[in-house]
Amino acid sequence: MHIVALRAFRDNYLWLVHDGRRALVVDPGAAAPVVAACESQGLQLAGILVTHHHRDHTDGIVPLLDRQRVPVWGPADEPIPGRTHAVRDGDRIQPPGMDVMFEVMHVPGHTLGHVAYAGADALFCGDTLFSAGCGRLFEGSPAQMLGSLERLAALPAHTKVHCAHEYTLSNLQFARRVEPENADMASYTTWCEQRRADDAPTLPGTIGQELLVNPFLRVHTDAVRQSLAMRAGRLPVDRVEAFAWLRGWKDQC
Ligand code: ZN
Ligand code: FE
Repeated sequence: MHIVALRAFRDNYLWLVHDGRRALVVDPGAAAPVVAACESQGLQLAGILVTHHHRDHTDGIVPLLDRQRVPVWGPADEPIPGRTHAVRDGDRIQPPGMDVMFEVMHVPGHTLGHVAYAGADALFCGDTLFSAGCGRLFEGSPAQMLGSLERLAALPAHTKVHCAHEYTLSNLQFARRVEPENADMASYTTWCEQRRADDAPTLPGTIGQELLVNPFLRVHTDAVRQSLAMRAGRLPVDRVEAFAWLRGWKDQC
């Protein structure tokens, strides 16, 4: 299975998953890049996967369906235009005619119904987990988001993480304020700067890499706890408080 990043808007990625013949698209906030990629690569659109209801992830669905009827998998508890299959935690998705299977994970936090799709050693996590960061809490609580991130972090280390936005360098700027001594963050920053200078995506990374450079997956570490304590005047009582403080700090930056 091949996975290709299609750009849209300022910093969105729509992910195209294809086998050379048939293609799925994840979070089509726009239709034009999907149509162009399918036409230029001779692919037939076979389905749409949606992680959450925000328009930069959904506005392309209806225009794509106007051209061709395909199944649309989306979270059961959110309004998703054109959805044909409402999915819940633990559901398995088998797109017709393609040799790939995805498991649905309910990952509330950014929105309450947000889902992620895991399969083929890849994760499509929408606006839940970003490289070196995480989504804003528009609907969920810190405890919900932390629980979601911890589930994603427990996936096999080689799992490739396909986030919906290119936020990596600005996330790293914050991450390095939190952990100035973290050498993995420093070398990852150098690598990401080179990728962006070449106009290439920093994504996908891996879960193993995120465990080293993503402060939101590191709220249990001494380094992050001590950094939070410097600001708050005391240590956080637990991981949820640490996560809430860290998310609040980032929101002010
Ligand atoms: Zn969003
Ligand atoms: Fe988004």
